[in-house]
Amino acid sequence: EGLSSHDYMHLESTHSAHNYHPIPTVFARGKDVKVWDPEGREYLDFLSAYSAANQGHCHPKVINALKEQADTLTLSSRAFYNDKFPLFAKKLSTIFKYDMVLPMNTGAEGVETALKLARKWGYEKKGIEKDKAIIISCCGCFHGRTLSVISMSCDNEAVNGFGPLMGGLLKVDYGNADALAKLLEEHGNNVAGFLFEPIQGEAGVIVPPDGYLKRVRDLCSRHNVLMIADEIQTGLARTGKMLACDWEGVRPDVLILGKALGAGVLPVSAVLADKEIMLCIRPGEHGSTFGGNPLASAVGIAALEVIQEESLAEKAAISGEELRGLLREVQKAHPTLIKEVRGRGLLNAIEMDPAGLGTTTAYDVCLSLKERGILAKPTHDTVIRLSPPLTIRSSHLQAATKALQDVLEQE
Ligand code: PLP
Repeated sequence: EGLSSHDYMHLESTHSAHNYHPIPTVFARGKDVKVWDPEGREYLDFLSAYSAANQGHCHPKVINALKEQADTLTLSSRAFYNDKFPLFAKKLSTIFKYDMVLPMNTGAEGVETALKLARKWGYEKKGIEKDKAIIISCCGCFHGRTLSVISMSCDNEAVNGFGPLMGGLLKVDYGNADALAKLLEEHGNNVAGFLFEPIQGEAGVIVPPDGYLKRVRDLCSRHNVLMIADEIQTGLARTGKMLACDWEGVRPDVLILGKALGAGVLPVSAVLADKEIMLCIRPGEHGSTFGGNPLASAVGIAALEVIQEESLAEKAAISGEELRGLLREVQKAHPTLIKEVRGRGLLNAIEMDPAGLGTTTAYDVCLSLKERGILAKPTHDTVIRLSPPLTIRSSHLQAATKALQDVLEQE
């Protein structure tokens, strides 16, 4: 009641752990691509909660599904059945063409689930000797913050001070299929899975070389290794296709979805695989009290319907082309400040040139953008990710690039 943005930020930093370094903007209301702070200032959201709000904030269809289900039933736990999860599971498995779904809540839990599944499959189906299973992950990867998941990271900030880390892991350079081939030659018999992001998001929107995903598919098949795609950030229309793996027409053995599966409304994640993999996990071996709850399932169904009904993949492809075109114009005007514009669909980044920036950081640029009503968040010191809701329109893209142009002119 009557608190200012400053008050909220102060309260949070007093009473909440300091595990984030936010841009100082308080969200009080959101609608589609726009959010408003408590003072009523309007912003265009160019982060979409790390691609969780692909459908736009508070999408009416999703909110209606939420409200209706909230009045009916919210939780059964999987000790019993409920009348929503089976429908959600069927919809997911039908859209993505996998036999089965294992529901969880957050992205990191989805990744944990995929790792457990890969190990179990490795022992039961591939015949890996007890406790010898290896998972390969990529340098620069980001899959979440739990202990086993950070164990796969090469990012010092993510792992320092949190050891001992989980064993049974090997790392390989991202985008380098030859390096993966070599690793599989050496260790293939014990490798259960290769976990990767089809485009690395948190690493700074790193798009692998053309043909990489196809070669990964071939290598995994040849060495009988599960190809595990973390599409938590790239999936669900973000890159201009339903899945980023669709860009090379490859089908991973295990698919992890999260973020936009809950349309920015609830945490909903899922692991998808065919029967002969998924049934390696039996009753009592894995689960989650809230995974597959009817509220999340109702939201998940609506989230998927919005993506389909509003052709969000096609929209992301078209808007992404337009955005990169506009950004390249800004780059032409400021070649010493912007080194590269890259991305697919609406998962994009501009890489700033530290030499041109001097003492200014990407974070400072984001602060100036915020003053002009554009919300973006840097990854690392030099990269600004631009990933608005997929419903964004041309006029918004133009407003954002104009703001960037103005900010850079002042540098
Ligand atoms: N995997 C990828 C590719 C992500 O980008 C993220 C979050 O940014 C996660 C996993 C973790 O998801 P969550 O934060 O919901 O645990």
